[in-house]
Amino acid sequence: MVDIGRFRNIGISAHIDSGKTTLTERILFYTERIHAMHEVRGKDGVGATMDSMELERERGITIASAATHTTWREHHINIIDTPGHVDFTIEVERSLRVLDGAIMILCGVAGVQSQSITVDRQMRRNGVPRIAFVNKLDRVGADPARVADQLQEKLKLNARLVQLPIGLEADFRGVVDLVRMKGLYFDGVTGEKVREEEIPGELLLEAQERRESLLECLADFDEELMETVLAEEEPDLEQVRRALRAGVIELGFVPVFCGSAYKNKGVQPLLDGVVDYLPGPAEVVNHALDPNREEARVPVACDPAKPLLGYAFKLEDGPYGQLTYFRLYQGVLARGDTIWNARTGRKVRVGRLGRLHASRLEDIDRAQAGDIVALFGIDCASGDTFRAAGVELVLSSMHVPEPVVHLAVNPVDRKAAGSLSKALQRFSKEDPTFRVTQDRESGETVISGMGELQLEVYVERMKREYGAQVEVGAPRVAYRERLTREVAFDYTHRKQTGGAGQYGRIIGEMAPSEEGVFEFQEEVRGGNVPQEFIPSVEKGFRAMLAKGPFIGAPLDGLKVVLRDGNAHAVDSSDNAFQAAARGAFRQFYRAGRPEALEPLMNVSVEGPSEFQGEMVATLLQRRGILVGTTEDQGFIRVDAEVPLAEMFGYASALRSATQGKAEFTMEFRRYAPAPEEVEQELVEAFRREKEKR
Ligand code: GDP
Repeated sequence: MVDIGRFRNIGISAHIDSGKTTLTERILFYTERIHAMHEVRGKDGVGATMDSMELERERGITIASAATHTTWREHHINIIDTPGHVDFTIEVERSLRVLDGAIMILCGVAGVQSQSITVDRQMRRNGVPRIAFVNKLDRVGADPARVADQLQEKLKLNARLVQLPIGLEADFRGVVDLVRMKGLYFDGVTGEKVREEEIPGELLLEAQERRESLLECLADFDEELMETVLAEEEPDLEQVRRALRAGVIELGFVPVFCGSAYKNKGVQPLLDGVVDYLPGPAEVVNHALDPNREEARVPVACDPAKPLLGYAFKLEDGPYGQLTYFRLYQGVLARGDTIWNARTGRKVRVGRLGRLHASRLEDIDRAQAGDIVALFGIDCASGDTFRAAGVELVLSSMHVPEPVVHLAVNPVDRKAAGSLSKALQRFSKEDPTFRVTQDRESGETVISGMGELQLEVYVERMKREYGAQVEVGAPRVAYRERLTREVAFDYTHRKQTGGAGQYGRIIGEMAPSEEGVFEFQEEVRGGNVPQEFIPSVEKGFRAMLAKGPFIGAPLDGLKVVLRDGNAHAVDSSDNAFQAAARGAFRQFYRAGRPEALEPLMNVSVEGPSEFQGEMVATLLQRRGILVGTTEDQGFIRVDAEVPLAEMFGYASALRSATQGKAEFTMEFRRYAPAPEEVEQELVEAFRREKEKR
């Protein structure tokens, strides 16, 4: 059994173009997972060409895969892909969840950029310990000290350089390690030989000063170091490392490393940083939900001796067929094991288990709590929990909310239609909140989900990943309607069509019911409605739920009590009673004073405190009701309840109101009665729609 302390599950996050791909490749090279390097092709496809197809393949698979495995100093490092450029999609959230730590790359010239802020927020929310890497120090204008300052000022991180560059720009030669007080150089054609020297004389003074202030800062995380520093003694290496590690893990400190991935400088010490300062899986607290206690959060211990509990966080179609990336939170998983899918209740047998090592896939026999592996041929959706028999916990909520936004997507041609259907199939698997339906009247394909942004991301992915060119309609809110009071009905369906007639009479009440519930109660005395036709009445009412007569929206809930009626020996039939129910519904629905319901969203806007006024204004303009504000170190979060209908286009409105400094998250909260003017518009729109047909 491997020591859990020797696992690292990390992500690498970056603003686009700051060198994530290059750095990842270098990491895999130095850890001997790939055997050659080459330049990254320019984004426009020109520039350095690939040495061979083989290399391209190797690199492509490695770097784009959801989790790559490598080793450094006898530590198992799983690098999990975290697409930093897409905000708040369920996919990103899932990837963030399985990380125990991260490398945050910053460009040495551009410093903290907009995506760095987004990524920072995501990491903060998920409590991910981090180390930073200031890349591109070979470029003109690079200045790691300035970037470290920005991390402090803009992101309010307690960030300090733990290295100094030796030379900068074209003269960038190596780094000074401020923990060990050594100069490091990277020799050989690909920088693979790390040479250690004394610190160059001209940097000594600055290095000493920086180290002193670094130690003072680190003393806060270690009692012993504090005493040593106060006594003005020289701490030993272990003391410093321990304090630094503690600071990182308790999210109180971010060490800043220096280098140039492209020029092969500074990568190995960064890997040392991953091993020395980022936590192993047992050093962070993970949570599961307990469905028996209203999904209360319970901590899970990273313990191989306990029964299995794990999380399928990503599905991938690769050259090996479908892979399911899986994080083990508890227990052990071995080939041949039988495990249960918490969502479907079905059991599956684990046929093959593996790790992705660059282009190679390595089969393994077993894996233990804290590890990340790939499973083969397992039928599941991303976000599914797998567990051993008897385990009740789940790793993500079992409540799948009903979608609140619809978007029509029309393929431009036949080829697009084919690709579209593939994409839709895949997305539905990845994301349980993503639905696909066919509009019965227009025949259009409609995708539905929890927000505009989510659907936009999928439309983007249809184009990019599946080559499906589609035209997109305007996003539509999923309204609902319901009765507000009880209404009695007495309805007779009678038809004489030549031969056999149709006859059915029903008497009873319709009333509002709980959200999403259709209740049918039968109270018929004396057999006036024969027993055999009662299910027909229920069926007739049920058929009306999908589209209410008020605004044409699905019903939020309905209760029907059937009390009496009449039948005819010859003319009554299943069909006749179904028709009677539909007729009763249509005729009496209005008397129950129907109302329109609209989805309200919980919106959280976060940004620098100086934009509080602007942030609040954007919400109030959208019929938002403020719920609260919290301020933390120069950042403010404003929470509000806002009707979804008002939130279309909010991302760009917020951007322009706050110079791009604020961002928001949004999730469905509840359905609530729409205000009168909104309701009037919906009634009008439905009337026009009916007239058109
Ligand atoms: P990503 O978008 O974050 O994955 O960034 P890439 O790794 O694709 O790098 C973007 C561009 O920056 C590429 O042209 C790289 O060659 C270049 N690049 C990456 N690292 C460095 C570096 O350390 N120095 C310089 N000068 N260029 C770099």
